Amino acid sequence: MEKKLCEPCKEPIVDKLPPCPLMCKSPKCKAYMAPIDTSKKSIVWVLGGPGSGKGTQCDKIVAKYGFTHLSTGDLLRAEVKSGSERAKCLTAIMERGELVPNEIVLDLLKEAILARAEESKGFLIDGYPREKSQGIAFEENIAPVSVIIYFEASSETLTQRLLGRAASSGRADDNEETIKLRLKTFLDNNDLVLAQYPDKLRRINAERPVDEIFAEVQSILDPLVA
Ligand code: AMP
Repeated sequence: MEKKLCEPCKEPIVDKLPPCPLMCKSPKCKAYMAPIDTSKKSIVWVLGGPGSGKGTQCDKIVAKYGFTHLSTGDLLRAEVKSGSERAKCLTAIMERGELVPNEIVLDLLKEAILARAEESKGFLIDGYPREKSQGIAFEENIAPVSVIIYFEASSETLTQRLLGRAASSGRADDNEETIKLRLKTFLDNNDLVLAQYPDKLRRINAERPVDEIFAEVQSILDPLVA
């Protein structure tokens, strides 16, 4: 199969990390990641268990701050729909409620960030990192995180909410069996992820009305955009 070449440096386009060997630094080179100036564009990781209300809060943040919302779950579901070669293996992993290899997730994230880096006012990275090593890889390959918002809710609340939405979500992984596995995956990794960023972590009690939660979110984000 013919290899696609990067226009400026004429090297084969590297779809995976690490970056372009020549570091041609052209935005046309898929392998090159333009540095994101995080003093102007914040990178916010939005964490919380499945059903913690991350998606709802992200919608409100986008409406108020105009940030670019990237959910790794959505990126992966889009990849599955695309019918690509790796889609089949992704489906199986996601149906088991396990974590997809980070090489794939980070690749998809990097591509999405790169495509929007110029016009974006800031990035909301929803559902990433889910493992300590994912956080390290993101900061090494993309940019340092500005702040981490963690929506905290008990396992009982998360289970109830997920079962409640299962009937209408249309998601293959919103069934009782996979919900249990997704929660277990989350609980196994979450504390380690959070413990890594004591200074940047902001915990929010997510077992309250949406607007009360959003008021707290704003108190975290307003200083970042001031
Ligand atoms: P979500 O929509 O966030 O509930 O994610 C759905 C599924 O996508 C998860 O159960 C995982 O299989 C996969 N997934 C989402 N985000 C990640 C991630 N950061 N790392 C690995 N797998 C992920």
